[in-house]
This record gives sequence, C-alpha cells and structure tokens, in this order.
Amino acid sequence: MNIKLAVIPGDGIGPEVTEQAQKVLDKIAGVYNHKFEYKTLLAGGAAIDATGNCLPDETIAVCKASDAVLLGAVGGWKWDTLPGDKRPEMALLGLRKELGLFANIRPALMFEELADACPLKKEIYDPDGNGGLDIVVIRELTGGIYFGEKGFKDTPLGKAAYDVEIYAEEEVRRIAIVAFDMAMKRNKKVTSVDKANVLESSRLWRKVVAETAKNYPEVKLENLYIDNAAMQLVRNPRQFDVIVTGNMFGDILSDEASMITGSIGMLPSASLKNGNFGMYEPVHGSAPDIAGQNKANPMAAILSAAMMLRYTFGLPKEAEAIERVVKAVLAKGYRTGDIFSDGKKLIGTKEAGDLIAGEI
Ligand code: NAD
Repeated sequence: MNIKLAVIPGDGIGPEVTEQAQKVLDKIAGVYNHKFEYKTLLAGGAAIDATGNCLPDETIAVCKASDAVLLGAVGGWKWDTLPGDKRPEMALLGLRKELGLFANIRPALMFEELADACPLKKEIYDPDGNGGLDIVVIRELTGGIYFGEKGFKDTPLGKAAYDVEIYAEEEVRRIAIVAFDMAMKRNKKVTSVDKANVLESSRLWRKVVAETAKNYPEVKLENLYIDNAAMQLVRNPRQFDVIVTGNMFGDILSDEASMITGSIGMLPSASLKNGNFGMYEPVHGSAPDIAGQNKANPMAAILSAAMMLRYTFGLPKEAEAIERVVKAVLAKGYRTGDIFSDGKKLIGTKEAGDLIAGEI
C-alpha cells in the first residue's frame, strides 16, 4: 500500500516521539511491503516562530490532501504568555475543525507489565488474573457545550455567563455509528453516557443512540448517567467495552479511563471523520520539562501510529505487530523514566524507538 502521511512533529518532545513513530512505520513498511511518503508540516509554537501563525494554510491544505495525519504535541513555556487565541494549542482546535474530526477515540488499555502503575486495587482491575483493562472511550469532538452559543447577560444576581449545550440528531447519529461499528469489532457492548434525567440535549442523545442501536442487533446497549459512569469506572471498570459520550463528558471520562491504566506516556489517540481519514496523536502534551533530553516515552506516539494502521488503512496485522512488540520490549524489562521502577533497565527515547523497530 502507498500511503501519503502528513507529519506534524510540533513542539517540545513532539518531534522526539514522532521521529520514533516514523522509525517504527519505516520498519513496518519494509517488513509488510508498504510505502510511506511523509510531508513534514508546521503547527503550534514551531509554526508561530517560523510564520507568526500557529496553523499555516499550507499545513491545513497538505493535511487535507494526505491519507492521514500524525501529530506529536504542541505548546510550551515559550508561548505561555501569548493571548488565548494566539497560543499554539489553538492549532489543535483549528485542525479538528478544518479536517472535520468529530470522533475522538481513546483506548484505555492496560499493559500487564505496567499493572503496578494502576491506581486501583488488583481485585478491581484484574479479579480473575486473566489480564487487565481494555476499554475504548469515544468522545464527540466538534459539538456540544464547547461549541454552543456562549456569552454574558445581566441577571438579578449580577452579571452571568452562559455556554449552551446543543446537539443535532445527525451529530449524535454519526458518533453513535462510530461507537457501534467499534463495538462490532470488539466485545459488542456500548455504554452511552449522558445526563438524560436533567438535560434535554441528553434526552435527544439517548433517543438517537437507541435508534442507531436497532441497526446493530448483536451489540448490547446500556445507558448510564455521567455521575454514575464516573463512579462505575473506578468501582468496576471491567464492565465496560465501548463508552460513547458527548464532548464535555467525554473530555472528563476519557482522562479518568486512561489514568486507571497507568502512565500518560503510553496512551495513544485518534480523531476521525466519516470515512477513514484521521489524525493520530499521543494523549500527552509537549512535556517542556523533559524536552530535548532523550527522556520522553515514545510508546504513546508509536501506538498512535498503530491505531492509524488499523483505523485509517485497515491493516490490523501491522497494527498488532506494533502492539505486540511494545509489550515484548516492556516484558524484557526496558523502561523510559516515566514508567521506570527498581530492577528495570532505564532507556531513552531513541533506544525505545530502536528496540521497538528492531523487534518488528
Ligand atoms: P504534558 O502531558 O506535556 O506533561 C505532563 C507531565 O507528564 C510532565 O511531567 C511530563 O514530563 C510528563 N510526560 C508527558 N508526556 C510524557 C512522555 N511521553 N514521556 C515521559 N513523560 C511524559 O502536560 P502539560 O505539562 O500540562 O502541558 C505541557 C504543554 O503541552 C502545554 O503547553 C499544554 O498546553 C500542551 N499540551 C498539548 C497537547 C497536545 O498537543 N495534544 C495535549 C496536552 C497538553
């Protein structure tokens, strides 16, 4: 397969971890007979320094003309004093909007080798000793309260501020379809999370998800209120397979779900639109405290590349090869600083990339 990839290394550790992901993809290309053609693009702080704009038009145009986007991370101390709308992080919102990426997919997968990093008790995350957690949170990314009307008005209690939570049926339907399709490839259970006991928008959400479920008779649908879902996630996370929810609830739940699996340096993510196009990036930020020191864990970036092979290019064998090799490197005791513990072998960013690419 010939694949055109837009690569946005970004800032801080972004370029360091992205380089390792490309190293692994190049190895995959050799072993499985694919060809990756990379276009390296500016966004975030690096783009501000070079062009004065955090998201140059060229970056958007080349992303649109590519098969998928691989992103490192953006932001850093250097640009922290800029006004909100000029900050590097605005590039992310711009990319999501320009590329129509409405579905954010965050797997919360526990690596057995790192189970000690889980803040939950073993009898909760692995009661039968058969292995830890494997949940996917699907968050609606371009609607809801973050994008609804906002403003100020005078009230008897003084000046008030408001943000409107609004969802159209079609916005809910398309994210529900992503969730049910995903469940069909996994354990055939979808938990839809809302606040339908209070919010009108949640009642519409619940109705549309139920309608969508009729097209997936093999998938079990469960509805939970957000407060209960947040509680159930730490009480009994193994009851979940695919969780689908709106923008703000998803923002919070996906962080909660990923944290119970351990280190932030291990967590990949995908943002997808209809069809196969997607942007793939580690969950972590640009980590300015360790940037340029060969200390960053590149596994989240490498696992994001694996997600890309699976979701955009339909190459599950290649994706599994990467995931298996990451586990193998962990099983041999190699650890970057963020997941290091006594008795393990401390390695840097480059060595981690070399070991993973070498094992493929
Ligand atoms: P962060 O994720 O960059 O770092 C939090 C902590 O985790 C730091 O101590 C860091 O050293 C550590 N860490 C993060 N990734 C790691 C990795 N791969 N290996 C080892 N350790 C790792 O979050 P932050 O400090 O809140 O944000 C720093 C900058 O990144 C900010 O400008 C923020 O806006 C930006 N940010 C960008 C994204 C993105 O581009 N998607 C996401 C979150 C934060």
